[in-house]
Amino acid sequence: MSSENLDHLKVAFSTIGCRSNFADTMDLQTAALEYGITCLDFNEHADVYVLNTCTVTNGADVQARRTVKNLRFKYPTARIVVTGCMAEVGFKDCPEACLADAIIGTSRKSEVLAAILGKNIPAPGNDLVSLGSNFKEDLAPLSKSTPAPGTAAQGLAPRARFHLRIQDGCDNLCTFCIVPSARGNSRAKPTAQVVEEIKTLGKIGYDEVVLTGTHLGGFGAEREESLLGLLRAMKKAKVSPRIRISSLDPNDVSAGLIDFIASSNLVCEHLHVCFQSFSNKMLKLMNRRYTMTEAIEAVSYAAAKIKGLCLGADLICGFPQETDDILNEQLTAFKELPLSYLHVFPYSERQGTPATRLSGSIALNKRRERAQTWRALSVERRSDYLKSKLNTEMEIIVERITPDGHILGTSREYASCAVSPAASAKNIKIGRVLKVQAKEIGANKESLICLQQT
Ligand code: SF4
Repeated sequence: MSSENLDHLKVAFSTIGCRSNFADTMDLQTAALEYGITCLDFNEHADVYVLNTCTVTNGADVQARRTVKNLRFKYPTARIVVTGCMAEVGFKDCPEACLADAIIGTSRKSEVLAAILGKNIPAPGNDLVSLGSNFKEDLAPLSKSTPAPGTAAQGLAPRARFHLRIQDGCDNLCTFCIVPSARGNSRAKPTAQVVEEIKTLGKIGYDEVVLTGTHLGGFGAEREESLLGLLRAMKKAKVSPRIRISSLDPNDVSAGLIDFIASSNLVCEHLHVCFQSFSNKMLKLMNRRYTMTEAIEAVSYAAAKIKGLCLGADLICGFPQETDDILNEQLTAFKELPLSYLHVFPYSERQGTPATRLSGSIALNKRRERAQTWRALSVERRSDYLKSKLNTEMEIIVERITPDGHILGTSREYASCAVSPAASAKNIKIGRVLKVQAKEIGANKESLICLQQT
């Protein structure tokens, strides 16, 4: 099929799961656009439907299977390409596999475009990919046709803050997690390449780049490079965008990293730390690589050193053997932790992970109850954190301008801000930094009402 025919090819994309999956879809869409393909959303009529799946929970698997079933029912003649983590582990074995034209796992990402174009499609069920063996796929370099902030390249959502995936895979084996099987061993872009890409993004107009990965703390380990080394190289290269670190495990929050963030303006004062539990017994059952003492030490040092730091944490509640006593132990520990908010996940079994073989399962309704308890505590913490930002100056990235001229954006400290523009407001650009002053807390207790500083 020569490129002139491709102008008519309409391809719809949909993504389930994490930032890494959205980055994969974005890479695919950008590559498709370079072929002249028209990119659409799933609710539009297309020739090809590409579903980028997740498999982190059984729920994500069910969502992928249901989506493929509905697609085939709605579009009997369309081509359906299933990719992503569930395509790597498990989709081939489920009844819906025969409804797909191609099932291409994360270890064969470079073949997805060929499948979209209808070339060399391996028949469902016989693409014998041995798990994790050939994850040698380089992380896609920044596309030459990366759109400027706020510009909606056809079918691509406009972006204000650029999520740059610099690492993939994971060498850890947390007992609840299937990701290492779905994404392979940890590997990263070379430091020099990342620095060049960030310089390019600065030139395109992005004032913030969010570093993402499956296990960002493992950045560069396979070539004796490190996240701290990368940040130092960026500082030396005087890159223009500010940097946000998407998430880290407590044992990746080193004193060196904290000192670097505290001493330079390069990295946003926001750390999202994947605690997963505040109990040593649970951390052991999860096969996490730190103790509560080490985790508390790391985040307390960060809170003491980095002025105005916003510290968030991931928490899994209702993990097997999380008795009421262990819940209370965690609630007590939480009181001492300098956290500003929580992302709470009720434990959800993932077939094929060691945690499903643990005794002492917690009833589903109890998991949900505990999630509510933690979420209520998080709302309070968030509100206290936002109160501490009142009447302070902040730098937000402009993400959206409403029809009535209000500006919406995110501050360095990860606060959502609604800004009443100054009378003299001119040339407010999406993706650009804007100086504001926080005046009051929004009605939803999750955001700040600000005035533009001139
Ligand atoms: S660190 Fe643990 S939870 Fe995170 S991706 Fe690796 S195995 Fe999964």
